[in-house]
Amino acid sequence: MNHVRMSSHTSSQRYLSTRGGSYGLSFEDVVLKGLASDGGLFIPEEIPSLPQDWQTSWKGASFEELAYNIFSLYISQEEIPAEDLKNIIKESYSTFRAPEITPTITLDSKRNIHLLELFHGPTFAFKDVALQFLGNLFEFFLVRRNKGLEGRKREHLTVIGATSGDTGSAAIYGLRGKKDVSVFIMFPQGKVSPVQEAQMTTVLDANVHNVAVEGTFDDCQDFVKALFADPEMNKTHKLAAVNSINWARILAQITYYFASYFSLIKSPNLSPDTAIRFVVPTGNFGDILAGYFAKRMGLPIEKLVIATNENDILHRFWRTGHYEKNEVHGKEAEGGFKDDGVKAHAEGVKETLSPAMDILVSSNFERLLWFLAYQVYGEGSADERRKKAGNKVKAWLYELRRKDGFGVDRWVLDVAQRDFESERVSDEQTVKTIKDVYNWTSSPTHKSYVLDPHSAIGIAATLRSVERTPSGTHHVSLSTAHPAKFSKAVDLALKEEKEFNFKNVLPKEFVGLEGLPRRVINVSKSDGLEGVRKIVIAEVEKELTEKR
Ligand SMILES: *Cc1c(COP(=O)(O)O)cnc(C)c1O
Repeated sequence: MNHVRMSSHTSSQRYLSTRGGSYGLSFEDVVLKGLASDGGLFIPEEIPSLPQDWQTSWKGASFEELAYNIFSLYISQEEIPAEDLKNIIKESYSTFRAPEITPTITLDSKRNIHLLELFHGPTFAFKDVALQFLGNLFEFFLVRRNKGLEGRKREHLTVIGATSGDTGSAAIYGLRGKKDVSVFIMFPQGKVSPVQEAQMTTVLDANVHNVAVEGTFDDCQDFVKALFADPEMNKTHKLAAVNSINWARILAQITYYFASYFSLIKSPNLSPDTAIRFVVPTGNFGDILAGYFAKRMGLPIEKLVIATNENDILHRFWRTGHYEKNEVHGKEAEGGFKDDGVKAHAEGVKETLSPAMDILVSSNFERLLWFLAYQVYGEGSADERRKKAGNKVKAWLYELRRKDGFGVDRWVLDVAQRDFESERVSDEQTVKTIKDVYNWTSSPTHKSYVLDPHSAIGIAATLRSVERTPSGTHHVSLSTAHPAKFSKAVDLALKEEKEFNFKNVLPKEFVGLEGLPRRVINVSKSDGLEGVRKIVIAEVEKELTEKR
């Protein structure tokens, strides 16, 4: 093959760890590894910039073509040939119900408020955009490695994850039926919403294993961690994770920022330099981090607005420059810092109406910290600067582990505030926003729009941002889930509306779902970790025997 190498094709895009422990990794390495061996996260050594003529040459592109244009700036053709990458993308988005994949609709044309709907994938949540792609990538890499090999010689990937609902179903739908991959998803028995449990357990593909654990979500997570740390397990199985720290997930999410930009440029036919703000309901900082990459690549985003629920560690960071696990800080709390890392009165995660955003710390924030450090403490050659950034990140995270928090210099906060603003939205405001939007959207195209609670947090933050920005500013608020997935909040907000009937928002895919046959393995308290280990080993063994 003899490809003409355009200037836009960084033919040797390489990756490094945010903690400085590894450099020069390939895309395949970082996707299959997930987490760096020094505990850091993978980022590209350089953020690619857009081709000079992108605004004209990408304008008429479909979602899939945009994805290809963007991904090929991050993945060299030596690693994934153009045709293969195109096929992976095509297959990944063939499962979406909307032709535009992620449509942008206008909720309020007077105030220029738009909604980027990210829930048209198989599990009705935004995580599908990334996990459909990740599943196909895993399969592509494994099948290529296994070319010409038979039976036990084939490399087999065992994906293990824990979920409290949302990630689990998207991961299962991303990996179902994939060759050379098994997936085990653990969830706390009886503690996942009925719709989400049905979504996961009614997937009957032989490579999908739902494990219902008697215990809490934390118990499930502890099992996952223990399995990843188990030397025996690692000797016999190639383990992989699909949680939000996998680089391919961030990459896949960059596409919809571009898709939404072009959608607005076309209709309502904006000038290409209109100020556009993206507002993102945020938990682990993965969704909005993709927006940061889009902005750094050159997409004209005026600001990214972080919208948190009452678990507001990010919001507090943007206010104060302190990244701290709980709200008690200042002199008194500092007195509570102990060398063993235990802080007095540490609070846990608060349960809210937007559970997919209930976090104590945001894992992907570490990636932004690296770029902030690189910009602020940058002196010397690119290699020296990278090294310094890695050291800085390592020091911050060390403090986070030891003292439950750390503070950054004013310069760092300044740089962070150039690209981002933040808002915190309470449960009460979430419910009110669902109700308000239901009543003010009366355009002929979108009558009585029903928001899910996560998306409502985005709109609540948008309304505050509208108040402080010039009137020509456009806001795109990201809608991360379908309202039928989170019926509790929707019901709270709309039960008194005369016209409202929950049945009308229920997609046909959800009707009768709970009555379908299920496959799930139960783990009791007394089975414990050993029980889970045995299940993983036996189930993979069964798959390998039955398939060959
Ligand atoms: C995962 C999730 C979020 C949070 O996204 P992050 O990338 O973790 O910030 C928001 N809403 C829904 C519905 C989600 O599933």
